[in-house]
Amino acid sequence: STPFTQRPTRIVVDLDAIAANLRAIRAHAGVPVMPIVKANAYGHGLLPVARHLQAQGAERFGVAFVEEGIALREAGITVPILVLGGIFAPQVTQFLAHDLEITVSSLSKLRQVEATAEAMGRRAAIHLKIDTGMERIGVHSDSAGAFIEAAVRSRWCEVRGVYSHLACADDPASAMTALQLERFLEACGHFERLDAPMPVRHLANSGGILHFPETHLDMVRPGILLYGVLPDADARAEVAVRPALSLVSQVVYFKVVRAGCSVGYGATWTPGRDTRVITVPIGYGDGWPRALSSRGQVLIRGRRHRLVGRVCMDQFMVDIGGDSAFNEDAVVLVGEQDGEAIRVEEVAVAAGTIPYEILVQLNERIPREYR
Ligand code: PLP
Repeated sequence: STPFTQRPTRIVVDLDAIAANLRAIRAHAGVPVMPIVKANAYGHGLLPVARHLQAQGAERFGVAFVEEGIALREAGITVPILVLGGIFAPQVTQFLAHDLEITVSSLSKLRQVEATAEAMGRRAAIHLKIDTGMERIGVHSDSAGAFIEAAVRSRWCEVRGVYSHLACADDPASAMTALQLERFLEACGHFERLDAPMPVRHLANSGGILHFPETHLDMVRPGILLYGVLPDADARAEVAVRPALSLVSQVVYFKVVRAGCSVGYGATWTPGRDTRVITVPIGYGDGWPRALSSRGQVLIRGRRHRLVGRVCMDQFMVDIGGDSAFNEDAVVLVGEQDGEAIRVEEVAVAAGTIPYEILVQLNERIPREYR
């Protein structure tokens, strides 16, 4: 819980939109879905999102760190949870104690997991991570045979899944995805050669779901798309999803700035004529990017207005020209107002980053409200 509940600045999350997006993705892909709820459910709030999705029939979850998995278990999430990140030996007991599925990304990690599982007298549920082109974690697809054999022969591990991650799936024109798929399927061929049951094969992130149907395989792993946001500004939504997050604040101050008077730190913006400037009580200390200085836009009374001067830690200023605005008027940073909308994708372009970063940076100082 946040101590900032009195702030007029807040994130409003439409949980039903996330549930509807999950259903739309499921229908589009035609296979089971692993909703990715790492990084505080992409800024939407880990526990409220996971509880709602589980109640709405989510079959499992994916998180990045074991701590996120434990938080889900302690909040009453009972469906399978895969931790996508690499593991550290001292944490393996925690995976087993909380019934979390482990990503095993090398033979030595497999041995660590086996040793802990044997010591605890409890089999570990694992997914094997194959590297097909990210060069991040995972065993290279061209040398995965011995790794897969050791895993399927393991007395202390149950291989539930095998997966890889796409590096360029947000680009429909990239040849990388086809290459990664080919390498992945080749590695999966080892299960057949070993006469071992084929575990669940999963590969597609949001980009794969949208642009590369052949990557859907046995399960898909949407993150950003689940929240109704597209992986990049150029992507077209071939799945009917809608944004779940709005970020709103209020006018906290109104003034007329005289021609020639500079606004904000560094005196970077000076109007050539008298203009009306309002102040909004949110800044980079909340995760609203400083890169939006003199670039970002907000909605006030259904109209777009530009940020002027530098974004401060807790406030920023907006030039409303000849328009009128009053203290406590709603200011929409992300979301809709009177038929006009600002999307996270647009904010990301203005800030020179990706929508993922905009979402996950929104921090605990901003209270979240659920609808
Ligand atoms: N799968 C893995 C292994 C990931 O690391 C991520 C996120 O980075 C996802 C799936 C979800 O990706 P996206 O948000 O692009 O759908």
